[in-house]
Amino acid sequence: MSDTLAPVKPGKLIINGEAVDAASGATFTTMNPATEQPVTTVAEAGAEDVDRAVRAARAALEGPWRKMRPADRARALHKLGDLILANADEIARLETLDNGKPIFESRQIDIGMVAGCFHYFSGWATKLTGDTVPVNPAFFTYTLREPVGVVGAIIPWNFPMIMVGWKCGPALAAGNTIVLKPAELTPLTAIRIGELAMEAGLPPGVLNVLPGKGSVAGEAIVKHPGVDKVSFTGSTEVGRHLMKTAADGLKKVTLELGGKSPNIVFADADLEAAMRGATTGIFYGKGEVCAAGSRLLVQRSIYDEFVGKLAERAKKMVPSDPLDPKSRLGALVSEKQMKSVLGYVETGVKEGAQLVAGGQRQPVDGKGWFVQATVLAGVDNRMRVAQEEIFGPVLAVIPFEDEADAIAQANDVPYGLASGVWTQDVKKAHRVASRLHAGTVWVNTYNFYDPAMPFGGMKASGFGRDLGAASLDEYSQVKSVWIQME
Ligand code: NAD
Repeated sequence: MSDTLAPVKPGKLIINGEAVDAASGATFTTMNPATEQPVTTVAEAGAEDVDRAVRAARAALEGPWRKMRPADRARALHKLGDLILANADEIARLETLDNGKPIFESRQIDIGMVAGCFHYFSGWATKLTGDTVPVNPAFFTYTLREPVGVVGAIIPWNFPMIMVGWKCGPALAAGNTIVLKPAELTPLTAIRIGELAMEAGLPPGVLNVLPGKGSVAGEAIVKHPGVDKVSFTGSTEVGRHLMKTAADGLKKVTLELGGKSPNIVFADADLEAAMRGATTGIFYGKGEVCAAGSRLLVQRSIYDEFVGKLAERAKKMVPSDPLDPKSRLGALVSEKQMKSVLGYVETGVKEGAQLVAGGQRQPVDGKGWFVQATVLAGVDNRMRVAQEEIFGPVLAVIPFEDEADAIAQANDVPYGLASGVWTQDVKKAHRVASRLHAGTVWVNTYNFYDPAMPFGGMKASGFGRDLGAASLDEYSQVKSVWIQME
């Protein structure tokens, strides 16, 4: 496997503009999922480090960050986007080594998104305004739009660098400061972006990065009285727990959680395009994608033929060395995740689904936590493989009869993150889009994102929005000012 021996320097915490060791001196090892070898060691934050970082974030909030002209804040954020592009090869390689995703995704897709977030949101720093409100001639009444304060951002391992942009772009544009905890499995790109933030001219303490365990550093962030808001992306289970903990401190929370998104193919669709969309909808990012189209709903009249072709297509998607630019199916993030995914395949078969493609571990050069592109056909929407998030390259294909049946089955899950609709009937597309319980509906496409388009969930997929103008509401609060004029 290529390039794995090139050394990666040990990762540090970033607190108050400095790269430092943990107060306890603790470190952990981050692993390469494709080779099962260590990538490097990383400082492991504990409660004491969280406290230092929160104090630094508070001091920056009250001091240099608040005093900076919005245009200068915008310039620094834009420069951070530029620096990410200037260091794209290095950052993309770190992401692939840490996460196992194909370098094609890290370099060609994720880098553009994370840099794009800083570029897009830099523009907002100068455009967040309040209103003057005509209440009564005896008063001058206006609103101010202010930052929430110190934001604790806790992010998952599936899109480690993108999540830095999704959280930090809007939070910093709105004038907050941040204590960011990357997932323990994938801390490297967040640390690197934290270093670049210093180079970009963000004052010390504005963006602190604390790799460490969820149960230690994550809990300490959520409990810390100096943290005003928690923005979380991760599993529904941890999100639920975190919301309860945050309730004690009456902290605002934004939760971006799991999904079990329906991708609906009607018989009148462009079936070639739908086939491509069904495949990338689940196998992009090894299926470790919150919005993955993991439930493929196919109209009964085309079901057998569609499933047959889909299985052929999936069998051609062979896992390969993620550092190879041609790779489109990398390694799952950890051995635990691989076992969980393979366990779900077994469950599906026991429940009566037919395994028509994949279903096995497939090491590359004898190593790695790779799983084949897997298709389970004949799935009933009540099966566990249709109801629970698998978070791997496993597609459950479910037949439906008509539009009403498609909508009913699509909505019959606890989650409501994303969805896809494939049809050439424009009226049907709008009708179905309006009825789906999902934060995003893609019509005749799947898995598209842009910093300007809000993203988030309904139901057990959480609440609040990342990206777009909507995300700025999550990171600002309104103050009303009354001035007696007479
Ligand atoms: P996870 O919930 O286990 O961990 C997410 C983060 O929370 C990590 O940084 C972890 O260290 C931290 N954490 C864990 N326990 C904690 C605690 N008690 N207190 C504070 N922090 C804690 O999720 P994961 O396995 O890393 O990520 C996969 C999940 O994320 C999937 O369910 C996926 O659907 C979801 N996800 C959602 C979106 C979205 O936008 N909705 C995007 C990406 C991933």
